[in-house]
Amino acid sequence: MKRILITGGAGFIGSHLGERLLNEGNEVLCLDNYFTGSKENVIHLFDNPYFELIRHDITAPYFVEVDEIYNLACPASPIHYQYNPIKTVKTSVMGAINMLGLSKRIKAKVLQASTSEVYGDPTVHPQPESYWGNVNPIGARSCYDEGKRCAETLFKDYHLQNGVRIKIVRIFNTYGPRMHPNDGRVVSNFIVQALQGKDITIYGNGTQTRSFQYVDDLLEGMVRMMQTGDEVTGPINLGNPTEFTILELAEKILEMTGSKSEIIHMPLPQDDPIQRKPDISLARTKLNDWEPVVNLDEGLEKTIAYFEKLLKE
Ligand code: NAD
Ligand code: UDP
Repeated sequence: MKRILITGGAGFIGSHLGERLLNEGNEVLCLDNYFTGSKENVIHLFDNPYFELIRHDITAPYFVEVDEIYNLACPASPIHYQYNPIKTVKTSVMGAINMLGLSKRIKAKVLQASTSEVYGDPTVHPQPESYWGNVNPIGARSCYDEGKRCAETLFKDYHLQNGVRIKIVRIFNTYGPRMHPNDGRVVSNFIVQALQGKDITIYGNGTQTRSFQYVDDLLEGMVRMMQTGDEVTGPINLGNPTEFTILELAEKILEMTGSKSEIIHMPLPQDDPIQRKPDISLARTKLNDWEPVVNLDEGLEKTIAYFEKLLKE
């Protein structure tokens, strides 16, 4: 049994990760300030004596003895990370320093949930880890993108300077049950709009692309990454390489929900990436042939069922 700390453990991805690690027989400590996460996401774990939920903001240091740390705390959707951009930068940067400092002292392995946003609006397609990215340092998305880029720098430097055992994964658009219904991300927005018979809001003409990964596939990749030897530090892309336009996604969700909602077009937000698709060759090599196994139809079916239930409640 390992003792594992998850920051952002009451959020969408963190709550699934905690559940999985508990089911595998570990002790799980979950830190969260409940900015976008909630107790409801983990309430079903409260009966497990090996689960602990602690209200804590990772911009402040935290002292504990654990074997592994998954650093997930950070709002992930544009409307949430743009609500208080300075706080977003602090969460990524000071949060990384606090978790790296902790790892250094207790010699724990530490995994950083980085993002495909480090590639910005990419000029290389699909995106390999060797691509440096095309990020606006002073735009609407910068607090998130640059915060995550700086966190990667800190991880690499703590590894080189202090021998901290780091793992960096660059996560591409991930969806599934327990996404926040109002978090503004495209999958949750379209499903909720379709189920409520409201207009489906496509930003721009809908030709921009994303590659959507179901949450279980991501967890498998993250857990495999944590199990690699110390020489594997990443960054490694974790995403589903099947690419869709946003219009295709809207049409698929309309068909699967049987909704009569109309598609409407709204202005494209500033610096919205035109295309995104992971090159997962490195993950396949380093993570024991890891690749996503849940296709968009299967994943959407489960996510739609979740939101149907949630909206009824
Ligand atoms: P989420 O918003 O559901 O989860 C983030 C969690 O962090 C929430 O529970 C929130 O309350 C908590 N949090 C935020 N600031 C905090 C702070 N200062 N101190 C403590 N807790 C704090 O988002 P998610 O989709 O589950 O994302 C989890 C991680 O994965 C994030 O770091 C995100 O950047 C990264 N990521 C997610 C995606 C995706 O598509 N979902 C893609 C790339 C990277
Ligand atoms: N998007 C959209 N309608 C929405 C929400 C998002 O057309 O209601 C678009 C958004 O402009 C972007 C894509 O969908 O091009 C993915 O957006 P999301 O916020 O989910 O993720 P990110 O842009 O961070 O990849």
